[in-house]
Amino acid sequence: MRAVVYRGPNTLRLETVPVPRIGPGELLVRVAACGVCPTDIKKIQYGLLPPPRIFGHETAGTVVRAGARVRGFRAGERVALHHHVPCLQCHACRHRAFAQCAQYQRTGITAGFAPAGGGYAEYVRVMPFVLPGVVRIPARNSFIEGALLEPVNTVLKAIRRLALLRGDSVLVAGQGPIGLIFTRLLALAGMRVIATDLLPARLKLAREFGAAAVHCPAGPAPSPARRSAPRAPRPAAPNLATLIPRFTRGRGLDAAVITVPADDVVGEAQALVRGGGQVLLFAHTRRGTATPLDLATVCVDEKDLIGSYSADFQLQAETARMVFSRQLDVRRLVTHQFPLAQTARAVELATHPTPDSLKVVVTPGAPEG
Ligand SMILES: [Zn+2]
Ligand SMILES: [Zn+2]
Repeated sequence: MRAVVYRGPNTLRLETVPVPRIGPGELLVRVAACGVCPTDIKKIQYGLLPPPRIFGHETAGTVVRAGARVRGFRAGERVALHHHVPCLQCHACRHRAFAQCAQYQRTGITAGFAPAGGGYAEYVRVMPFVLPGVVRIPARNSFIEGALLEPVNTVLKAIRRLALLRGDSVLVAGQGPIGLIFTRLLALAGMRVIATDLLPARLKLAREFGAAAVHCPAGPAPSPARRSAPRAPRPAAPNLATLIPRFTRGRGLDAAVITVPADDVVGEAQALVRGGGQVLLFAHTRRGTATPLDLATVCVDEKDLIGSYSADFQLQAETARMVFSRQLDVRRLVTHQFPLAQTARAVELATHPTPDSLKVVVTPGAPEG
């Protein structure tokens, strides 16, 4: 079969590899769609894991073979996969810290080599311990909708970490695919969302996804054509520090979600949440840099600085309901589809988004409408 093999930092090659052989408790799935996810991009760019590997973990496809001992799935079924499932028994699991569980950290889906998701290939092997996370895709829904359960699940898990009451005010900084999912799910839960992004097109979509207010921190970027024209005086864009008190009637934000890896945004959010509020980090995945923080905002003002990473398979059924009912219509997030042979281009676009790009998906089968 064809697969895109990671061969070292920034090196992805289309190669021919054996179709994975499955054991009696396993599934063989023909991949139809696999989302390009920032956590994979990071591993590819910085060479965080030794090659060779086949990445891609937001995967949906069709079961082509089920091992003799598999119950509940059979050939021909369209499924969304889930690559991490915790043991539910260890010390971390008893504290619901699933992402810290040793079994959870093992990847249960592979197309060959050390398991790394395998979605950038024609077929993947699904191991027994991740079968509880596999979800059937209803006939009316697309493979791409199935593939996007994983990122939606990570957002739902993060929102569960916030102590919010209906009607609360939440800042969602960054309206990329993840930020937009936050905006929609928070709006559906009855929160007043103020969404920020540098790109006007994303703010427009944030509005359509239910944001009560949007804000462009730098003001709209001038188009190249206009740059040479004589500059019209533009009123100074109001900043968040003046907008938030108005938006919250002086109370301050109940929570802020930071979906961009920018430390200054964290500092700004920490100042704008009310005493006892929460700032949640969702994109600060790179280790090794320290940042100054006035710790009295945590101790005296009781502002919690928290994080959330990865998914919670116990939220998978609820995630599937939100996505497949289209209360959260993830199809609107997908702007680009690439065939398997162009996975490197897909990763490149997801790494350097354009004003009109959001979620990028690799479709080893046919592209979906
Ligand atoms: Zn992902
Ligand atoms: Zn565990």
